[in-house]
Amino acid sequence: MDKLSNPQKTIEVLKKYQFNFQKKFGQNFLIDAHVLDKIIQAAEITREDFVLEIGPGIGTLTQYLAEAAGQVTAVEIDGHLIPILEDTLSAYDNVTVINQDVLKLDINQLAMEKNGGKPIKVVANLPYYITTPIIMGLFESGVPLKSLTVMVQKEVAERMQARPGGKDYGALSLAVQYYAEPYLAANVPPNCFMPRPNVGSAVIRLTRYETPPVAVKDEHLMFGIIRAAFNQRRKTLVNALANASELSMTKEQVLAALEALGYSKTIRGEALSLKEFAELANYFAKE
Ligand code: SAM
Repeated sequence: MDKLSNPQKTIEVLKKYQFNFQKKFGQNFLIDAHVLDKIIQAAEITREDFVLEIGPGIGTLTQYLAEAAGQVTAVEIDGHLIPILEDTLSAYDNVTVINQDVLKLDINQLAMEKNGGKPIKVVANLPYYITTPIIMGLFESGVPLKSLTVMVQKEVAERMQARPGGKDYGALSLAVQYYAEPYLAANVPPNCFMPRPNVGSAVIRLTRYETPPVAVKDEHLMFGIIRAAFNQRRKTLVNALANASELSMTKEQVLAALEALGYSKTIRGEALSLKEFAELANYFAKE
């Protein structure tokens, strides 16, 4: 089987199997060899790596991964793609395909079975409708991870790597940056996919920290504060936190905390860095 990474070969395979794209599964297949090379380079794949691919489609990226990695497991929800993958990946003896919804897969167990519990790399051209649950699920479930190198919607990539103050900065930036260091590897235009998505895309690598960059006594409380701060981002932090039903803080308590930490009374959440949110959460955890 020739490489799939061009429009002719992709069309040939789709026709052979009379495959119909399913919009509900976010199916936009890569057809650009340059972008595929970029993903492999950004993920720094070597023969030492066990790679989990989420959503292999017809196997375009899987072929590149199989050639660079030690072992690859690819998880695909759409049963119609399984016979196609058997065909397109038949030349590789280091690839396993699992027909399942990745959100229901026990990835901790997979990493244990396939990689002896050592950190794995996740590489994917993600289905955009579940980008955030996939990424946050991987971080929060404590799967041993070296890095995640993923194609996502361009604006989501921008939010993940945004710094305080800008319009893209928010709860997603802080959640991602608590667990990983983001690196934007490439911007990818719609014509690199079949069918073309309506949005621009980007490849982002998230390298998992061994320990978070800030020390937090109560992670649940910190993320509660962050959510409350950005739920009402036009309000001052004092009002946003005092109004939040998931927190039990009075206006006076928040004002006292801001004063103790040396922040302005009128500060908004979008001005606070991860370190500052951690300090604020630690202040309340102490109380
Ligand atoms: N990797 C292929 C490529 O780059 O050409 C296909 C990428 S396409 C954007 C996303 C893939 O994820 C599709 O094959 C889709 O069927 C699959 N998918 C969607 N939801 C999924 C889920 N919950 N679990 C596993 N795979 C899923």
